[in-house]
Amino acid sequence: MHELSILENIVDIAAFELKRSGGLRIETIELEIGTLSGVEPDALEFAWPEATQHTVLEKTRKIIRYIPGQARCQSCGETFDLPYIYHVCPKCGSYYKDIIQGKELNVKSMEILKE
Ligand SMILES: [Zn+2]
Repeated sequence: MHELSILENIVDIAAFELKRSGGLRIETIELEIGTLSGVEPDALEFAWPEATQHTVLEKTRKIIRYIPGQARCQSCGETFDLPYIYHVCPKCGSYYKDIIQGKELNVKSMEILKE
């Protein structure tokens, strides 16, 4: 499953950061996920317990921020919400656009317990 490998990657990042900080455990992790990143929220929730079992994130509270897709039309300059990647400009109908946000897939922050 796609989401499982993404979470394995996040676990690796978290383990690295925990080791680097010299902390004991990770209290919370905050993820930023764009609605155009291809990650299914339900699948991510479903995969979370399995992916984090016996890892540094096993007891960590997760906060997920979903970032809505937004684009700027290359033809007319209009900025608009982009629920799907193939959505056309609502003003002029152009397919050509620059994606401003919505492709994020980041670990935004972590709260690490030091003692
Ligand atoms: Zn346009």
